[in-house]
Amino acid sequence: MRRYFVWLAFAMIALFAVVSGAYLKPFEYVPDKLEEKVIQQKKLLEPLQGKKILIDSGHQGRGNLQKEPIAPGSAVMKTKVSHGTTGVATGVPEYVFTLDLGLKLRKSLADMGAEVFMIREDHNVDISNRERAIIGNELGVDLVIKLHADGAEDEKIRGISILYPSMDNEHTEKIASESRKAAAYILEGMVRNTKAINRGSKERNDITGFNWSEVPVILIEAGYMSNPQDDLLLNDPIYQELLVKGIVEGTREYFLHP
Ligand SMILES: [Zn+2]
Repeated sequence: MRRYFVWLAFAMIALFAVVSGAYLKPFEYVPDKLEEKVIQQKKLLEPLQGKKILIDSGHQGRGNLQKEPIAPGSAVMKTKVSHGTTGVATGVPEYVFTLDLGLKLRKSLADMGAEVFMIREDHNVDISNRERAIIGNELGVDLVIKLHADGAEDEKIRGISILYPSMDNEHTEKIASESRKAAAYILEGMVRNTKAINRGSKERNDITGFNWSEVPVILIEAGYMSNPQDDLLLNDPIYQELLVKGIVEGTREYFLHP
């Protein structure tokens, strides 16, 4: 009889273990159908989702002073890639700054769902301004962002400006108004985040990278490397994050307002 109770107790314990095992499975989070829909919807609503953006970090390790036509069919020739400027306080060359910023911008835009392409990820390249434009055309990107820093004789000059192709130019009339809109939104975003001096957006006829482009394109002059304060800020990682934040916010705004 006693033995019978022992077996019974054993059987009860075994049964309890099996039953509780079934109910006490570790908690596993599975989004239900509605939540999945919300996630999908958020992706669809993100204006940068799936947008193709080409980042052109201006200049390269060594300039190429050979000439190329400033526009298709033009007899006017311009340097393929100039040397760029150098920071008066930091001694950092413009091509180093533009790649630093470009790589950070790429990450931020990609995090928002954009498909990002880079003209260069290295200083040791030789890609002319005309060739850079053709790469953007062949990729069929939605926007080209060219990154530069400015230089001036007067070292007091500071601030951010953005250049865009001219409406009054047979080569760029088709991309001018879109480019101008992108320039305006991005400049606003950058100034809002950095509190830098707003030097405005300006249309230009003399930029090879604009004249050969068939897709909207802007050129950011992120600050003056000829001004010691601007130069120090441009090469400060925290300030670079503010520049990137401003560019990303402005780009979002641009794609939000077709
Ligand atoms: Zn430059």
